[in-house]
Amino acid sequence: MLFYSTNKKAPKASLQEAVIKGLASDRGLFMPEHIPYLSDNFFKEIADKSLVEISKTVAEAFFGDDIPKEKLDSIVADTLNFEIPLIEIEKDIFVLELFHGPTFAFKDVGARFMARMLSYFVKERNQDDVKVLVATSGDTGSAVANGFLGVEGIQVFVLYPSGKVSEMQEAQFTTLGQNIVALEVDGTFDDCQALVKSAFMDEELNQKLNLTSANSINVARFLPQSFYYFYAFAQLAKLNSYKESALAENVVFSVPSGNLGNLTAGLFANKMGLPIKRFIAANNNNDVFTKYLQNGVYSPRSSVQTIANAMDVGAPSNFERIFDLYDGSYDDIKSKVKGFAYNDDQIAEAIKELYNRTGYLADPHSACAYLALREDKKENEIGVFLSTAHPAKFIETVEGCIENKISIPAGLAKFMELKKQTYSISNDFKQLKKTLLSLS
Ligand SMILES: *Cc1c(COP(=O)(O)O)cnc(C)c1O
Repeated sequence: MLFYSTNKKAPKASLQEAVIKGLASDRGLFMPEHIPYLSDNFFKEIADKSLVEISKTVAEAFFGDDIPKEKLDSIVADTLNFEIPLIEIEKDIFVLELFHGPTFAFKDVGARFMARMLSYFVKERNQDDVKVLVATSGDTGSAVANGFLGVEGIQVFVLYPSGKVSEMQEAQFTTLGQNIVALEVDGTFDDCQALVKSAFMDEELNQKLNLTSANSINVARFLPQSFYYFYAFAQLAKLNSYKESALAENVVFSVPSGNLGNLTAGLFANKMGLPIKRFIAANNNNDVFTKYLQNGVYSPRSSVQTIANAMDVGAPSNFERIFDLYDGSYDDIKSKVKGFAYNDDQIAEAIKELYNRTGYLADPHSACAYLALREDKKENEIGVFLSTAHPAKFIETVEGCIENKISIPAGLAKFMELKKQTYSISNDFKQLKKTLLSLS
């Protein structure tokens, strides 16, 4: 399978090239040349299949031409070594919990898959180690660092703003050791991003080191996120409550949305034949996509801070992919996706209301998706909202909403007990360059 650029001004790329480069040379996003349609038999038998079995089939449809089946199967199995439960919390409203991986957030799925696929291609090319540079304001750093931990042929440098990420977030990428290096930058998140950009533009650095990025636009990070839409459908099909025909016509997914990678993966699943009636994009106050769905005008702007901060995105990068997927047709996009946006007070109230009424505790991002589903779900529809983070990752906000203490899972607490190891650098590029060369 070849991958074209959404800007259509770059030559088509192989999977290997698309994964190693991340972004096309015309700054567009890579898209698969065609979208494979899965067989009727696959859907007939889906209810009897496990998460890993379903994911292997979906992965093979996209990547099967370019990676031997055995290798791809093991990448999928290694990635998904945790559960993705589907829980009914009230009649016809289900939550799909995507946060049972090592960093307790859904980005683990994409980061773990990408790390293994990149490692395969690095070995395949027989080249020196690849250096992954990633700037983080908190959550991406932990998913990428843990996803790449111990993966052969890859060294990861996480740049983060000193004193500007939460203690728990910091612990998740500064305590790992092995192939993960944390660079504590005396500056802001924007400084970290600017440093990474300068590194990619520096000729000497690129000659001496194989640099790449691990951000969410990489096809190996976003496509695997389609796996769990199929799995959620399979879990619904397993229940006796729904007749086959009702299921095929009435399933609605509500997705907490920032850069729109998760939603785009769902739209891909739909195009592959998964019968999803429609999608809901849930935004916080950063409502650029919701506004677009309401009036057809896309106006990116700077982000504003909210309590669902992983969705504080003012220019969602995967918008280009959605636009391309529907050939730029606003009508087609609008008929498949509706958008809703909520402010911090509404999100906080939803966390409290849901908890008091059902006992289910949602983190701020998931609560946003729950709110949108509740507001828009029709009576005959079967709704699934995606839960993207464990509530304990946002412990202060969540405890404030429910006026009660919650416990931190052992897997999350363990990071706090490990020793922090970082290299402190200034926000001057010369120092970053020296550090990268000396640690590589
Ligand atoms: C990244 C993230 C999101 C947003 O996902 P996108 O794919 O960027 O739309 C939502 N919730 C949490 C917890 C996240 O970390």
